[in-house]
Amino acid sequence: AENTVILDGTGVKRALTRIAHEVLEKNKGVEGLVLVGIRTGGVYLAQELGDRLNEIEGVEVPVGAVDITMYRDDIKGHHEHLPVGKTELPFSVEGKRVVLVDDVLFTGRTIRAAMDAIIDQGRPSCIQLAVLVDRGHRDLPIRADFVGRNVPTSRSENIMVAFDADNKPTEVILQK
Ligand code: 5GP
Ligand code: MG
Repeated sequence: AENTVILDGTGVKRALTRIAHEVLEKNKGVEGLVLVGIRTGGVYLAQELGDRLNEIEGVEVPVGAVDITMYRDDIKGHHEHLPVGKTELPFSVEGKRVVLVDDVLFTGRTIRAAMDAIIDQGRPSCIQLAVLVDRGHRDLPIRADFVGRNVPTSRSENIMVAFDADNKPTEVILQK
């Protein structure tokens, strides 16, 4: 097995800082903005992104979580994700600009399920998507608005997103 470092600790920080600026530019600030991370990696990244937005704008952006439990049948080469629908949103999404955050975007099924779970709670004015890594292979017409790194992968490869004990992202590795 061969490993390639896609982003080191500094690279992850820079990517998140850039994404924070892109989110601010696209949304013209933080007014009405909420972050929703997808458990578990996406929640840690949403918290990091929230910290960056706070540093830049001096405003606390609410961070919530959605839990999309996946059931994969990798042996048969097909998989499906079933939303458990467990959302922990300490705010209403009604009329909000929701930025969904996840670590890796792959088929898009998790994001579709997450959008369902959010829309179940109310009607956001819009939903945007931020991911640290887009590894391709979409099954659905879903794309990210904000991407840390586009990493072409084969279906059998894996992206490892590492976090430290404080849930801070430390590196991104492509595992062949
Ligand atoms: P999708 O639903 O788009 O097929 O897969 C995305 C979800 O599965 C994300 O929540 C992500 O955490 C996880 N995932 C898919 N592929 C990878 C990968 O290569 N590495 C990691 N760390 N997570 C992945
Ligand atoms: Mg995940």
